[in-house]
Amino acid sequence: MEVKYNCILIRFGEIFLKGNNRAYFESLLIKNIKNSLTGIDYRFSKTQGRYYIEEFNPEDMDEIISRLTKVFGIHSISPTVKVKTDFDEICKAAASITPSQGVFRVTVKRADKRFPMTSMELGAKIGGYLLKHTGGKLKVNLFEYDFDLNVDLRESGYSYLFYDKIMGAQGLPTGCSGNAMLLLSGGIDSPVAGYVMAKRGLRIFAIHYHSFPYTSELALQKVKDLAKKLTAYCGDIKLAVVPFTEIQYAIHEHCPQEFMITIMRRFMMRIAERIAIKNECGALITGEALGQVASQTMQSIQVTNSVVTLPVFRPLIGSDKSEIIDIANKIDTFDISIRPYEDCCTVFLPKNPVIKPKIEDAVEYESRLDIEALIDKAVENTVMEIISVED
Ligand code: ATP
Ligand code: MG
Repeated sequence: MEVKYNCILIRFGEIFLKGNNRAYFESLLIKNIKNSLTGIDYRFSKTQGRYYIEEFNPEDMDEIISRLTKVFGIHSISPTVKVKTDFDEICKAAASITPSQGVFRVTVKRADKRFPMTSMELGAKIGGYLLKHTGGKLKVNLFEYDFDLNVDLRESGYSYLFYDKIMGAQGLPTGCSGNAMLLLSGGIDSPVAGYVMAKRGLRIFAIHYHSFPYTSELALQKVKDLAKKLTAYCGDIKLAVVPFTEIQYAIHEHCPQEFMITIMRRFMMRIAERIAIKNECGALITGEALGQVASQTMQSIQVTNSVVTLPVFRPLIGSDKSEIIDIANKIDTFDISIRPYEDCCTVFLPKNPVIKPKIEDAVEYESRLDIEALIDKAVENTVMEIISVED
């Protein structure tokens, strides 16, 4: 029989809805859901604790579900059949979504107490109807079953029938924790770091340093493509592209080779903080993982961290590369990250970077540079671009 799913049921995490922030969280979640469905026709409605997407073209159902599974704050999603609460209607709908063989059970929830049967009675009757009308290859077993037909009789006078619960993205609605600035390279780690923090409700801004002409347009495009992948989860991203070559020249000329990376990182952090504050971001995010490379030792992190006052979130600090790659595959950034373009950090790469830098040394070497002027110029020449969910 033809399957007639005509409604998508969205359940959201209840925990974050406790307390005074409920209305705010909900309005954000609804806004994010609607943003994610841009370009698709549908009707949105809500009842207590649930949202419904209806009146869509059946051909769009898979696309709608795929987009909804990327919206943080959604707990689970089910394709459902919505019918008037009427025994015959419910039975017909049940038959339309029930496979013709296998072991099933029926679970009725009766929020609508006007309905003249108990949940148990109705469940048994629907089960009986299905056995009779689906060709005799179905069996009922309440304890061991292949599928569980859920029938929810809501107070609205409508009933919702569904089999599947598709896991949502979990987390908190994007934006409810404020804004943060992601230092986005073209590598594997930083996009994953952005995703992980967006999941905790942060709206992501991104900043990228490029070393034109040493790094190419394609390297920059790679970063934009990565940001674009993230927009499926966290909505539009404002990307700051910072020219970094002049700063690298200056460091290269005046500071010892082995401090190149340390001092470069300190400049990146300072510039990121400047642009973060301008854009009302309350934190920075990096993709660092302890011990992964020379610049990611405790000492290196202390030296780069010490030039900023905003908190720096490093959600991958305790992760193995393989764990990071798993997430990169899940969010579909891995294949972009491994495109072979050069990164600004590889351009002036020293052979033996210092592994345990001291702050005093970094400060002394930097004093040979006009730090403020270099930063001012880089910030002035920064180009802002919106990476949009839509195009
Ligand atoms: P990734 O895979 O994210 O590039 P990585 O393991 O290559 O990380 P590093 O090159 O040491 O590590 O960079 C550490 C972090 O510094 C990155 O995760 C990113 O947050 C930031 N970063 C590095 N290069 C850039 C860049 N060109 N533009 C913006 N941020 C950068
Ligand atoms: Mg890198």
